[in-house]
Amino acid sequence: MNGTEIGRSVELVMPSVTCCLTGACNLRCVYCRPGGESGDAGVAQAKWDRNLVLAFLAQFRRVGGRVLRVTGGEPLIVPRRLFPFLDAVTENDPYPDMRLATNGVYLARWAEQLASYPFSDVRISLDTVDSYAYLRITGRDALNDVFEGIERGIEVGLPISINAVLTTMSFAGMEAMVDFALQCKVNLKILDYVHHESIRSDGSESSLYASPDNLIERLRARFGKPTTKNLGRGIPMTVFSTGAGTTVIVKDGTVGTRFGVICEKCGKYPCREGLVTCTVTPGAWVMPCSVGRKDLRMALKPSGVKDAVRVILGYFTGLRFEARACSNCEIGDQNRDDAA
Ligand code: SF4
Repeated sequence: MNGTEIGRSVELVMPSVTCCLTGACNLRCVYCRPGGESGDAGVAQAKWDRNLVLAFLAQFRRVGGRVLRVTGGEPLIVPRRLFPFLDAVTENDPYPDMRLATNGVYLARWAEQLASYPFSDVRISLDTVDSYAYLRITGRDALNDVFEGIERGIEVGLPISINAVLTTMSFAGMEAMVDFALQCKVNLKILDYVHHESIRSDGSESSLYASPDNLIERLRARFGKPTTKNLGRGIPMTVFSTGAGTTVIVKDGTVGTRFGVICEKCGKYPCREGLVTCTVTPGAWVMPCSVGRKDLRMALKPSGVKDAVRVILGYFTGLRFEARACSNCEIGDQNRDDAA
């Protein structure tokens, strides 16, 4: 076993639920998996099973689910699916923390309509503010559309934030990204790049990987000592307060994460993400992890929704945190507090 086992809870750590509305996307990011967050290339062709997806989300909410991530692929390429879905999912007992993940290319067009829903976060995936780097990463010359989307989103009052993946292609421009977030007065989350296939098979990193260590040091010099965001699930994160009412958060998967019993039989263990969210696909498949243990995917059936939720929550019971050797000692210390 890599890392050190710090503690094992016997309690349920309620996961977020990630609802992929489509596996299709209008961008072709170099690191993105086919099928987007569902991790399944076949999802792009799957028939949208609205009723079963909604039944699952309603049951998940009933048993205490609080965080719903609406994502894809790219959810704004399927507006005729997205908006009726949002109407239905917010009609009764809405999730208190509902988030939308989008690449922002079509945001300007839909921002006003989106503003009528109770999102806690509309997260734009944007790795760079350099148009050439953007084209290389996404395969499309659409950076100005994203800028326009962010501007329009802010104008209509959407809770905009930015997610930027740190890679060798975005590393040089990441401080300009920080400046951009400051200028827009939005929160920025910088995520280390995880290539699930290469890390597990031979321990090496993909050629796209860029360590966040150096960036964290520069952010520390700029914003002062960070704190740690530790939600009891997923990876603890380093949080810098910018002094302008916003934050810059850095996720560094090398510090450690949480695993469950199902991870012990996973060929990708110990992966960099751990168990954090339950994923629902457009075709109403649910899974505790979209990276490994694909054998645990379940096809929802109208009579089996309650059972499916119960089974999924079982996978998130008894998670343990495993710390890794890392240079960010403050994070390690706070993990210990959290795991106690
Ligand atoms: S099941 Fe998922 S979280 Fe667990 S080790 Fe495998 S890939 Fe990681």
